[in-house]
Order: sequence, then C-alpha cells, then structure tokens
Amino acid sequence: MPEPINIKDLTTEQAKKEIQTLQDRLTDYGIAYYEKDAPLVEDHVYDEQYARLQALEQAFPQFIKQDSPTQNVGGAQTKSGLPKVQHPVPMLSLGDVFSLEELQEWEDRTKKALGFQPKYNLELKIDGLAINLKYEQGKLVQASTRGNGLVGEDVTANVMTIKDVPKTLPEDVTVEVRGEIYMPKASFAKLNEEREAEGQEPFANPRNAAAGSLRQLDARETKKRNLSAFIYYTAEPDQLGVTTQAGLLDRFRELGLPTNPDNRVINQMSEVEPYLEEYTAKREGLPYGIDGVVVKVNNFDDEIDLGNTVKVPRWAIAYKFPPEEAETVVRDIEWTVGRTGAVTPTAAMDAVQLAGTTVQRASLHNPDYLEMKGVRVGDTVTLHKAGDIIPEIGQVILSKRPADSKPYEIPTTCPACGAELVHVEGEVVLRCMNPACPAQIQEGLTHFASRNAMNIDGLGPQIVSQLLDKKLVKDVASIYSLNREELLTLDKFKEKSADNLLAAIAASKDNSADRLLFGLGVRLVGAKAAKTILQSLGDLGKVASASEEDIVAIDGVGQAIADSLVKYFKEPEAQALLAELAQAGVNMAYHSDQGPIDENSFFYGKKIVLTGKLEVSSRSEIAAWLEGHGASVTGSVSKKTDLVIAGTDAGSKLKKAEELGITVWNEQEFLTAQGNESN
Ligand code: NAD
Repeated sequence: MPEPINIKDLTTEQAKKEIQTLQDRLTDYGIAYYEKDAPLVEDHVYDEQYARLQALEQAFPQFIKQDSPTQNVGGAQTKSGLPKVQHPVPMLSLGDVFSLEELQEWEDRTKKALGFQPKYNLELKIDGLAINLKYEQGKLVQASTRGNGLVGEDVTANVMTIKDVPKTLPEDVTVEVRGEIYMPKASFAKLNEEREAEGQEPFANPRNAAAGSLRQLDARETKKRNLSAFIYYTAEPDQLGVTTQAGLLDRFRELGLPTNPDNRVINQMSEVEPYLEEYTAKREGLPYGIDGVVVKVNNFDDEIDLGNTVKVPRWAIAYKFPPEEAETVVRDIEWTVGRTGAVTPTAAMDAVQLAGTTVQRASLHNPDYLEMKGVRVGDTVTLHKAGDIIPEIGQVILSKRPADSKPYEIPTTCPACGAELVHVEGEVVLRCMNPACPAQIQEGLTHFASRNAMNIDGLGPQIVSQLLDKKLVKDVASIYSLNREELLTLDKFKEKSADNLLAAIAASKDNSADRLLFGLGVRLVGAKAAKTILQSLGDLGKVASASEEDIVAIDGVGQAIADSLVKYFKEPEAQALLAELAQAGVNMAYHSDQGPIDENSFFYGKKIVLTGKLEVSSRSEIAAWLEGHGASVTGSVSKKTDLVIAGTDAGSKLKKAEELGITVWNEQEFLTAQGNESN
C-alpha cells in the first residue's frame, strides 16, 4: 500500500475522495464485523484506517456525513430477527488512543475542561460486547445489546442462560446496569476446534464469538457456548447510592454482579504506566481476552461535567495494546485428516517467540483462507495471537518473497489414502469421503479411547497407530477382542503394560453409554449432547432406533444433532458395530458416573479455583470430581471464591487468594478431604 499523503498537502478534491472511500470501506468492514461476526480485516487494520478518517474529517469537516462510521456507534440491530429494544440512555463506544503521548493529550484536555487534576479509575478493557441489564425490584427483566447505541436487540432469553449473570439481586433495587459479555479463552479455543471439525468457519476472535453466541435465536445454543460477564457501568448511580466509579464496582460486588477484580484508582496519569506494564505481562495468563485498558474519571460529578460526544464519553478513554507481532518463515504447509474426514492445512514455520510462548505452527483453516492469505512455502509472514491465544498468520511480507517462489497448489487427493477430496456444498473445508481412510480410522480410534470418551488409559495415538499397522484392530469394536499375545508384539510392550492396557479396556465396558455415544464420533454429537440424550432415552439401543422427532423433543438437543444421529444409525455398518460392541459386553445403558450429588458434602455449593501443577490427579479430573460433589470450579479468584486448591508453582491466583484471605489448600489437604468424603 502506498504511504498516505500528509493531510496538509491534500487538495480539497483529493481529501473528499479519500474521505468517501474510507467512509464506504469502514462501513463495509463494520457490517461484516458487527452484523455477521466475521471481520474482513484485523482490528489494527481497521483502527489505522479509522484514525486516518478521523484526522481527515477533522481537517475537512465539510465532508463529514451523518452516517460516517466516526459519527455512529457500530453494532448489529437490523437483521438478526431478535426483537428491538430502545435505550433511554444511549450506549456509547469509547474513544481510543494507541500511545502514552496520545493518552497524555487526552488527559491535558480533560484537566483543562475540569480545571483541576481528577482521580482516575483504571479497568481492563474486556474483549467482548456490551450488554444492558435491566433489574426491576432486584429481578432481571431484560437484557439487550448495544446495537447502534440507541436501539439494540433483546437477548433476555439468551442472557438468562449465562451462569455469571444473577437473575435476582439480594436487594429490591430497580436499576439498569451495563457491562461486557465475553467468551473465556478456553471456551473460544474449544468452540473454534468444534467448528473446524464440522467444516464451519472459525470465529476470528473471542469478541466475535461472544457476539455470535449471544445473538442466537435459540437460547439453548447460547447456553452451550459458555459465556461470562463483567459489569462496569450504570447511568443511574443514585439508585445505588454511589458517587465514584470505584465505589460503583464495589457496590456491584455487594449485589453479586460479576465485576472484574483488577480495577485500580490512581491520583495522576503517571501511575498508569506501571498498570499498563503489569497487565501487558499478565495478559497472556488471564482466562479471558483483553485488548487494552480503560481510563475513567473516578468521580461521577466530574463525569457529568465532561459529558459525551455523539459517539463516545469525554470522561473515559481506551488505551489499546499494540498488536504483538513476530516474523517468521513458512517452511511447509501440512494437511491433516480429522476423524470426520475434514482435511485442514497448517503452516509449519521456523520457531519464534510470541507473547510468551514459542510458536511453530499456525492453522490455515481451509483452502479459501489459505488463498485469501496468499501464503506460499518459503514466504516470510507476520504472526500474532488472535484473541490473545491462537497463533495466526497476519500477512505475507511480499518484499521478502524469494525470487523463485511459486504459487501454492491446493491438494486434490487425501494425503493419507489418496482418495479424491471433495468440497461438500455449504462447507468451507475439503473432505476425504473414504470411510476406510486410515487417517480417519486412526483419529476415530484415538478419539474413542480418549479421556472424555471411553477413557482407556494407555491407548494413545502411537499405540493405535501400531495396532492399525499390525492389523490387530480395524474398528472400535475390535479393541475388545485384543489379547495379551497380540499386545506383546507391540514396541516396548512388556507383560505389565499389556495387562494394564487389557484391564483399562475391560474397565471401559462398564462406562455409562453416553461416553460410548460420544466415542463413536457421530458428527455434531459432543460429550454434553451425548449425556443429555442418554439421560433422556436411557439406553443406546433406544437412541439408535429413535426418530428425529424423538430426539428433537429432548430439551437441549437441536435439529442438526437429531439429523446427524438418525443418519448415522440408519447405516447398516453402524448397526453392525453397535451389535458387535454389545456382543463384547460393552454397557449400553446410561448411568450417572458418580451417583446423585450429596448435599451434605463439604464441597457442596462452594466456589473453588484450581491452580498450579497438581501431581496425583489432573486438574480436569479434580474439577470433574468437585463438580460431582456440587461445587462450581471457576477460573479466577475473587472475593466470592470459597477455596483455592494450589499445586506447585502456583502464581498470580495463589497470590490473589492470599491477598483476599481466601482459604488455600495444597494438593495433599485436598486428597485428605476427598478421602473423608468417600468414607
Ligand atoms: P471498542 O470495542 O474499541 O470500545 C468500546 C467498547 O469497549 C464498549 O462499548 C464496551 O463494550 C467495551 N468495554 C470493554 N471493557 C470495558 C470497560 N472496562 N469499560 C467500558 N467499556 C468497556 O469500540 P467499539 O465501537 O465497540 O468497536 C470499535 C472497535 O471494534 C474498533 O476499534 C476495532 O478494533 C473493532 N472493529 C473491527 C472491525 C474489523 O473489521 N476488524 C470492524 C469494526 C470494528
């Protein structure tokens, strides 16, 4: 792209043309971002062009149009099919700055307008989307999105499914509060993995994922997405008897509204730098994405004096973190076959340090994406972390492209079995449709044995691969006819390891049938859906013979899952497989893994955080056990946390717990208490 001409050197005609181009382009970007939750460019690209438009419009105000992106709060509110909600007090955006110098300029303007040095409250800028919650006499009666600031969408039913948002407050207050709905990093990574496995486009960042999940027409879909919230604003502080922003956050805490614990009051702007440094360092370890820090005037009287523009408050500013980028060279583009046959490309690159981790691989998702990025083997590329977490290729640095570089050719045959690859209508991925494809079988068997499925300890990808090479297994049922002699032919397998594996295989026969259903790898049927379905129908045989209507009638199960299940079990091969599994003695009935929750358990109703390295059991095992005893296991420590279980090398969460005076156990103390529960 050519360097932009200095604004003061532009003729009026040139300025008019550039302003129009930018207004149109940013409007298109906004529609893709806010309405389709699928941005066309990365945020920093949008931000740079927006800043240029703002500067141009300031120099040539005669070309400002009412519908310019600089004059409107961007947000979806037209096409989603959700009912509309008027906001009596507009929901605004935030002005932003990208350097300490710009922040200082903002502070100079603020001090000048007020005539004195105000105090500020610093908050993390959560990478989510704004929400308005209306409580009447302490009851949540309506939730709405920001929309265009004046009219948003009614998402009450969807917000009712978000655990963190209280449906009732401990006091009879009538108040509208605002905050951010976000998707935790772990849920974002999982959702994108699932979407890719299903051939859907992954979300670009947790904010788009949260927006797409909140604006679902079916609240059951929202519930599955595991959204959370932080509340930080009200236009009616009098209703809550507070006069400062920091006081408001404390009052929210008292009311049980979820608030981010990391706000800090400062007396002058110089104190912002250590806060920025602290959270730049901590950012990677936070369980949710942040894209900056918000500086707010702390005193509400000052806030009123400063007022708002049509789009942003003058009493607050967002300092946006610079995008963390690294450069590296793509050495290869590898294609892998998943268990559903989706064939996906990954860039293998020279290892490089990026935001605290070494990165060597980045998904290129699908052929369209690969072509859009235009990546070739040998190219130097920029790399960043999408949503603070997933390494992603930004762009190819064309000036560094080798002279002998050739366009990359998308394969047409499966890298594992050579079958022709197909582009299924409505999907973005390429698929290998060969049911006998060894890579799909390998992935399918590994999935069957994995922890959340049949949990067969010792049957990992390497062993599965050897069993397939030696033709000792061909499908999941044949795992149950393996014998000791056969296992002893495997690399490094001695009597003990063979016996352990056989014992794990035998034990898996008693699993509840929801694990078996999940293990079969039916498209769209995740562990949670499998459990819901078996809890309702009781037996896998009944699931196999159920009609679409029977399945859709189950609360929490949608049409797509029902279609997929019926299609799967209609195939004679699937029925034969089920018969073989039953013949081998694999349990087909649902039973709760842990029995009913004991309300007398010490852990019942407690909020618990796990941190550090745990030696005896994994975190997910302990979390599952705790949840089975009625506790809720959360990701971050707050005043509401009852207990922190800390392994070795525990970091910031342990420190926070100590600061807040929360009970901390080491792993041994937990094991003792766990033992007491079982007695
Ligand atoms: P914004 O997201 O930059 O800032 C305003 C929002 O921050 C508020 O509405 C609120 O929801 C949120 N926020 C988070 N934590 C907060 C806190 N502690 N206190 C107050 N508010 C908090 O502004 P925007 O108008 O929502 O969106 C503009 C941004 O969206 C752009 O800067 C750009 O990065 C991105 N965008 C990208 C594209 C694209 O194509 N990639 C297109 C449009 C917009």
